[in-house]
Amino acid sequence: MTSMALLVGSAVHEVLARDFRSRKFGTAREADPERAVDLMRTAWMNAKKELWRENPKKYPPLFEIYYDRIPDGERLRGYAEKARRAVTTVKNSLLYSRIRSLTPSDLPWVDPVGEGFSQEIIFDIPPYQAISAPDLVIREGERVVIVDWKTGKENEADRKQMEAAAVWAVQKLGAGDQAIEGLLFYSETGQETRFPIGRPEREKVETVIRGEMAAMAACLEDEENNVPRAEEHFPLRENRAFCRYCEFQEICWGMGGGNRESVIGDR
Ligand code: SF4
Repeated sequence: MTSMALLVGSAVHEVLARDFRSRKFGTAREADPERAVDLMRTAWMNAKKELWRENPKKYPPLFEIYYDRIPDGERLRGYAEKARRAVTTVKNSLLYSRIRSLTPSDLPWVDPVGEGFSQEIIFDIPPYQAISAPDLVIREGERVVIVDWKTGKENEADRKQMEAAAVWAVQKLGAGDQAIEGLLFYSETGQETRFPIGRPEREKVETVIRGEMAAMAACLEDEENNVPRAEEHFPLRENRAFCRYCEFQEICWGMGGGNRESVIGDR
């Protein structure tokens, strides 16, 4: 399931990825801010038509439609404007000009948006496997720079995501002998945050990921066959304030003799 807020991010990412992919493969086609709004409009229409019944991965349901929380016109226009502004801010940035001046060989990775899941994005955190699909990786001399576009506010998890991408880059792009940097571009403000990701940061994030994987595995009765523990091991949240925004709420409505109102309260 997706939501309007997530749609803004995915539409912006798709427009930028198509721009840089065309650059990498020699058919330069500039990012058009209006294209991001078209993508959102199409996703909205597809959710209205409930195409998710046929293929939820390709046409995910939209939270606002699925749970009948349709935003008013002004709010919807706000999402569209945010997407337009994000693409425009990236296009007007010095970073975009720098990337445009690179040769295709200096773009070792562009998010293969729309091409689905592939082995390229899987990396090892023994005994587990994890996934990283950075937006863009560029070469600046001997340096490998991992770029990520952010349509939301700065968040502590952003750095961790880039550190995980650096582990992926060492394994998948053979970047182990090169200096690696993370570059977060915040499209609301145009701010660039750039930082080195050395071996200590990579080892630390590997430990964090392994710990999170182990915590998730602990929710399984049978790890090998991906069988979850019994329902009573997953109690509802004590604080239900978040439940009305939770995409899984429907599953909880019938739990413990409850109903929709008992989980999410008044609409
Ligand atoms: S509705 Fe979501 S947040 Fe609330 S208890 Fe259920 S799963 Fe947890």
